[in-house]
Parts: sequence; C-alpha cells; structure tokens
Amino acid sequence: MRRVSIFGATGSIGQNTIDLIGRDPGSYDVVALTGGRNIAGLAADAIRLRADLAVTAHDECLPDLRAALAGSGVEAAAGATALLEAADRPADWVMSAIVGAAGLAPGFRALRHGATLALANKESLVTAGPLLLAEAARHGATLLPVDSEHSAVFQALVGEDMAAVERIVITASGGGLRDMPLDQLPQATLAQAGAHPNWDMGQRITIDSASMFNKAMELIETREFFGVDPDRIEAVIHPQSIIHALVGFNDGALMAHLGPPDMRHAIGYALHWPDRRHLPVARLDLAQIARLEFHAPCDTRYPALRIARNVMETRGKAGVVFNAAKEIALDGFIAARIGFMDMAGVVDATLDVMSREFRLNEAMNTLEEVLVMDHLARVAAQAQIKQMERR
Ligand code: NAD
Ligand code: MG
Repeated sequence: MRRVSIFGATGSIGQNTIDLIGRDPGSYDVVALTGGRNIAGLAADAIRLRADLAVTAHDECLPDLRAALAGSGVEAAAGATALLEAADRPADWVMSAIVGAAGLAPGFRALRHGATLALANKESLVTAGPLLLAEAARHGATLLPVDSEHSAVFQALVGEDMAAVERIVITASGGGLRDMPLDQLPQATLAQAGAHPNWDMGQRITIDSASMFNKAMELIETREFFGVDPDRIEAVIHPQSIIHALVGFNDGALMAHLGPPDMRHAIGYALHWPDRRHLPVARLDLAQIARLEFHAPCDTRYPALRIARNVMETRGKAGVVFNAAKEIALDGFIAARIGFMDMAGVVDATLDVMSREFRLNEAMNTLEEVLVMDHLARVAAQAQIKQMERR
C-alpha cells in the first residue's frame, strides 16, 4: 500500500487526484487530505478514502469539520500549523495542489521525508524554484511536474540527454478572451475571463489563462524545473490544446506530447511514474481532430509574457515578487477593483517599486526569506491597486 497525502484535496486538481486514487482504493493508504471552506466535501472524501487526518486551512471551520467527521475515526485539524503537521506525517507520494503561495510551505515540509512530491502548485517553482530543488536533493526526495505542459516536457525527455535539448515549446490555448478585440479587453468581465474554452480548472487559474499570467508562470516554471536558459523557452498559441509541449533537439527533431485536455493524465503519470499504467482519459481520434493550429502570441494582448521574460532573466527574488503581485492583482480583478488589463499594470509597477528597494537578482537562501519577500510584494501591490482606484 502506498501512503498518499493530498494538499488542496477539495480543488480541481485535488478532486482529479481523488478520482484516480478512488478507483483503486486497495492500493493506497490515505494519510492526510487538506482543504479550505468546503467542509462537507473534505469530510466526505476523508471518510470514503479512510484518511487518517483531514485539515481545513481555516481555524473557524474546525467545529464544522469535527462535527462532520464525528464517529468516523478520521482526525480533524485546522490552520496553517496543522497544514504543516499534515505534511510532517510520513507519506510516499504527496500531491501539492493548494492554489497560490499558500502551497509553498506544506510542499517544502513534505520533502523532508524524502517522498515524491507531485507538484501542481506552480507557485512553488515560480517563487522558490532553486530552494525547492535543493531541498528535494538534500532529502533524496523526488519532484514530479503535474502542470500539463511540464509533465509533457518531462515525458518527452525520458531517455534523452539534456545536453541535446535545443529548445522547449509550451503551448497555450489563449484562454477565454482570445478572440475578444484588443480594445474591448480592458472592459472584460469576470464571467468572460473565468470561462475556459478547453480545460475545466479552478477559477484563479482560468482567469490567469485568459490573461496568460498562467503561461507566464509556466515559462518561469520551465526555466526553473528543467534548468534551460530563457532564450530556449517559447510559448505558442495552440487553440485545440491537444499538444501540451514540445522538446526540440540538436538534430532538428521536435518531440511533441499529445493528449486530451484532462488533468488526470498528468496527475496519473506522476502517480505511477516511472511506470505507465492505464488511465481513464479519452483517447484522441486524430482524424476527427483533423487540424492542429499554432500562432505566435501577441505581447500587446498578453503583457504577462513580456513580464515573464524579465523574471526569467532576473531570477532571484523576481519570481516571488511577480507571483505575489499577480495574486493581489487577480484578487483585485475578482473583486472588480481593477480592470482586466490593469492586472499587468499592477505586476509591472510592483516589480518596479520592489526593484528600487531590493536587488531582485539576488538569490534567497531560506523559505522564510521567500515568505518575507512575498509579504512585502503583496503590500506593494495593494498600494498600486489603491492608487489605480483613486485615478
Ligand atoms: P482550486 O482553486 O480548484 O483548488 C485549490 C485548493 O487549495 C482547494 O482545496 C482549496 O481549499 C485550497 N486552498 C485555497 N487557498 C488555500 C490556503 N490559503 N491555504 C490552504 N489551502 C488553500 O485550484 P486548482 O485549479 O485545483 O489548482 C491548484 C494548483 O494547481 C494551482 O497552483 C494551479 O495553478 C495548479 N494547476 C492547476 C491545474 C488545473 O487544471 N486545475 C493545472 C495545472 C496547474
Ligand atoms: Mg498548465
């Protein structure tokens, strides 16, 4: 029996992970599940999967969680410390699928057991890539990418020599607003930005897909995870989302990874790695798909890509500032405090302000340092939003 824990079990990635594990309950010993305010969902999954522990991120939800788990034998806990304690419980495989920088510390902590950390939480690599890789190496832990593009690259690299890699190309659907005329983008609504043409995902990443902040995060992730120079990493728009990534080699070959837009593929690959096992995802009918299209993304429409280039070159503290500012800007858009195109303005301005106070290209040595920079960047980004509101 493999011991597994799922951080962010109630979310989109968490539920897809539970779908896979729930199909084969005899193979898994579920240690901990964590969630947020969806207490009924968290408790139901914890009971069904016979988890040892269920944790809600919110202290005030503990009485409800206790009540929902009464008599089940599943322990209940709440709060940030309890999330870390859940990560301290030894497991062989841990899914890191909390959304945002909140997922960083529990993932870091889980590496201490030398476990396999399946990394859906892209913020971990963007904010603290070098530290995370070093921590994994120190404890003999394995990091596996779950973001579909990075899982695709990882799979295309099996058996290959990194020295022969010329370039990595990740694809982008273009998001929910890809056909909206440029001059209408500033007025785009939450409902428009929150509808994805191909993937069914959490609200935050869906909006990030429309702005391409998601692709910006993924370019940075690629740089950090695979250690490839920024000028060898590209993003291309591919509206069908069938090819997830391609790796170009020095003989001119491009190895592409194709699959249906279903996160259970990348999750299942990480779950069974290094083996491949049967997964309940649709099989592609190429004749029916008929056409795969590609075009270059436009920097005017997607300023996030330009910002990502800057962050990939700067590294150091730039990633954590970028991510924090992006999260605050996204909160601002969701709360209708700023417009859709203002999000990039907030991130640009925050990077600018922070670069006057800190040498952003300086490496960080501890997780605490990352969390302090994260906090300072959030304060700076909030100030930018307030300024925009006054205008
Ligand atoms: P989601 O919003 O559906 O779920 C997020 C989960 O995190 C929930 O369980 C929620 O309770 C928990 N959570 C939220 N805030 C928290 C906090 N402050 N502390 C502790 N827990 C908290 O998100 P998702 O779409 O499943 O995405 C999860 C992560 O995976 C994100 O980093 C996302 O970028 C990444 N990812 C998602 C997809 C996808 O298809 N959904 C694909 C690639 C990468
Ligand atoms: Mg992705």
